[in-house]
Amino acid sequence: MPRIVQKYGGTSVGDVERIKRVAERIKATRDDGNEVVVVVSARAGVTNELIARAKAVCPEPGEREMDQLLAIGEQETTALAAMALQGLGVPAISYTGGQAGIFTDKSHTKAKIKTINPRPIERDLKAGRVVIVAGFQGINEEGQITTLGRGGSDLTAIALAAALQADKCEIYTDVDGVYTADPRVVKNARKLPEISYDEMLELASSGSKVMQSRSVEFAKKYGVVFEVRSSFNHNPGTLVKEEVAYMEQVVVRGVAVDKDQAKIIVSNILDKPGSAAKVFRALAEANIVVDMIVQNVGRHGIANLTFTVPQTDTHKAVKSLEPVLDEVGGGQVAVHEHIAKLSVVGVGMKTHSGVAALLFQALADVSINIDLITTSEIKISVVIDQDRADEAARVAHAAFGLERV
Ligand code: ADP
Ligand code: ASP
Ligand code: MG
Repeated sequence: MPRIVQKYGGTSVGDVERIKRVAERIKATRDDGNEVVVVVSARAGVTNELIARAKAVCPEPGEREMDQLLAIGEQETTALAAMALQGLGVPAISYTGGQAGIFTDKSHTKAKIKTINPRPIERDLKAGRVVIVAGFQGINEEGQITTLGRGGSDLTAIALAAALQADKCEIYTDVDGVYTADPRVVKNARKLPEISYDEMLELASSGSKVMQSRSVEFAKKYGVVFEVRSSFNHNPGTLVKEEVAYMEQVVVRGVAVDKDQAKIIVSNILDKPGSAAKVFRALAEANIVVDMIVQNVGRHGIANLTFTVPQTDTHKAVKSLEPVLDEVGGGQVAVHEHIAKLSVVGVGMKTHSGVAALLFQALADVSINIDLITTSEIKISVVIDQDRADEAARVAHAAFGLERV
């Protein structure tokens, strides 16, 4: 029997009516002769609501308690989805991440999956049940509940598809697939029939929240081909898979905007070997992921380091830097949160020139100032004023003719 892993996101299970509709979809997949494993997210907005409540009772809640709390959202929808299926006469069972055999490392709020024990799910599939697994969570070796970072239900689905050697992995969401830009921001964005892992990874890590970036990394590592599609219709979606030669014919595949980054400037530090190492070691020890890094060297042996971090880590970053400032010759830390990162992504950049010039000119034509620039083999990113980010996305989209691809 073919085996399918389906993941339904927060909007798709947003209320009881939608959960019932999802149950019908799952039933139809099973009636077609498939074994079905389903991953569900919390109802849309629930995770944010829980975070807000945590902050209302304690400005800096501990990460273990945060995970205890956030795991609830997904537990509600799994149980309801299993009940809805049972109501349709389909045998179904719901599991937390831990019950489903998903073991993670010890870090709370962004834990990594270490292993999956497929036996509990295999046993249920053999008994003819649909298995509904809570997304975004696992258990560590001490039996503590952990969560996998925002958007982590995507990772649960892809990791389960790999561990269970599924024939198909479908990520159901509230748009028809992966578009050339966020279709809510760029109205003439186009749905892509397919995209390479690397492009999807760069778009996801640049702010396209349609897929969690770590889930794409996982899919690439284990060769899990997956389809992003809508749970509200039956249109074909976007296939995410290994790069094939003809993909390079398109220079830019998509545009992404990230408004959740903060810029930190550490100014007036000594321009000598070891200064940057000390600054970034402090951030690494605090488990903070640094994105863009720029160093300016001034006169008199003084340098400034500018970098971006996720906004949720700003406070932690500033705190972790305090003890090293003296060691790097004094220095001041300044934070700017009203920024956005605009990125253009495409494997075709490997073989085409002039992409940066075209992007910078398009932004210049509408007087959008560029603050920081970084590039990779298949991506160019710029930091700009957050107020102009959506406009910049439309301008870049048009400059590369993406409405026509
Ligand atoms: P889910 O709850 O199903 O996981 P998300 O809200 O996490 O859904 O992701 C889907 C959203 O991602 C869409 O509603 C869309 O606004 C946004 N998005 C951003 N960039 C893109 C893109 N390039 N293609 C499709 N959707 C995108
Ligand atoms: N509920 C979690 C979040 O909102 C995980 C997910 O939806 O994928 O981030
Ligand atoms: Mg999501």
